[in-house]
Amino acid sequence: MKGKEMTLIDWQKQYGTEEGCAQALIERRWPEGFRCPCCGHDGGYSIKTRGYWECSQCHKQTSLTAGTLFHSTNLPLTKWFWAIYLVASDKGGISALRLSKQINVSWITASRMLRKIRIAMGHRDSIYRLHELIEIDDALIGGRHAGGKRGRGAEGKTSVLVAIENREKRAGFIAMQQVSGVNGETVSQFVKRHLSPDQCVRSDALPSLAEIGKTQNHTARVTPPDKAGEWLP
Ligand SMILES: [Zn+2]
Repeated sequence: MKGKEMTLIDWQKQYGTEEGCAQALIERRWPEGFRCPCCGHDGGYSIKTRGYWECSQCHKQTSLTAGTLFHSTNLPLTKWFWAIYLVASDKGGISALRLSKQINVSWITASRMLRKIRIAMGHRDSIYRLHELIEIDDALIGGRHAGGKRGRGAEGKTSVLVAIENREKRAGFIAMQQVSGVNGETVSQFVKRHLSPDQCVRSDALPSLAEIGKTQNHTARVTPPDKAGEWLP
């Protein structure tokens, strides 16, 4: 459900009924039509009770929701889809209490749903690869010494690598990762994990960041402090 934002009305139209939600699952699960996971046969028919499909060759029944977020749930799919909409559209993070009132389920059920949805969304984020124009930098975070030394090498702080998609005047997706230190190896692993190959990447001229150039179209330059706002909006 990534892509352009849907309005409440669009959502209601598409996912307002059990049939609509089931259709969305079918399209994602079997984009080229039903295929039996047991014998590979491509013919089957749906059984109305709780979204099962039966293979017309081996007659094995497959649950539409098996292996999905909605597996072994007694809730209507519409409630799940509304929960996903509410989680995705609430920037501050919807609470279990609020969700329970909105979709009329118990607080316990709502908190279980939230947990599952957040894990699924986190998984989606973890397989996303940044692309196009990307800025990479390292940063030091935390530490107990308020007002201590700034910049690289400050003691008690944690190194973090940050990559951000530069979409002109705004930021796109961001990848952040804690690393043991900023060196060729950690930089190379970070880039491999979060970026598609051969993207345009800009960073400052720190020698360990030169590693980026091995798999990416890399430009390194020293950013003068007075240019930071302009070059790295
Ligand atoms: Zn079969």
